[in-house]
Parts: sequence; structure tokens; C-alpha cells
Amino acid sequence: MYAGCLVEIGPTSEILRDPLHPYTQALIASLPSLDAREELRGIPGLPPSLLRPPPGCAFHPRCPVAVRRCQSERPLLREVCPGRWVACHLVMDGGFV
Ligand code: SF4
Repeated sequence: MYAGCLVEIGPTSEILRDPLHPYTQALIASLPSLDAREELRGIPGLPPSLLRPPPGCAFHPRCPVAVRRCQSERPLLREVCPGRWVACHLVMDGGFV
């Protein structure tokens, strides 16, 4: 979930192995490793206000792959491959366009 909206649904093991939504990807990439000693990676920017969320995709101010459409059009949650649901304009049929 991001800003109170579902952005990705699927089996946990698949999402952890192959996250499709840019927020899920950033979230998983920011998880600290128990083995490696490395700098923690956060997601740049701040979470949006839930009272005044940004127009379009709520993640667009922080998304590294946002396009113009993301600023005005809210992406719908849709099934991009069996059992995997993603709300992102750039994810089609299981991967990025
Ligand atoms: S819809 Fe646009 S801003 Fe939102 S996650 Fe997808 S690419 Fe990023």
C-alpha cells in the first residue's frame, strides 16, 4: 500500500522475488541485509499528505520512472499476469513497458 491505496497484490514470495510496482521495488531495495554491511538505502522524498494527496499517481513525486501521465492520471489496479495486480501506468503484462 502507498498513501492509503493498494499498489500491488500477489503471492508474497513472488512479490519479494520480483516486485513490479516502483514503490514495492524501492521498498524491498531499502530492506537492510542481515549478511552484508552496507549503507541503508531509503526512498528519496517524503510520504504524501493523506489529506491532500498529489494528483495522479500518489507516488509520482518520488518515483524514479514517472512520466508526465503519472502527474494527472491515477493508475488503476489491474491484473498484469495471473495472480499479480499492479497500479502503475508503466507495468503491462508482468513487466515494464
Ligand atoms: S504510475 Fe507512474 S509514478 Fe506511479 S508508480 Fe507507475 S511510473 Fe511511477
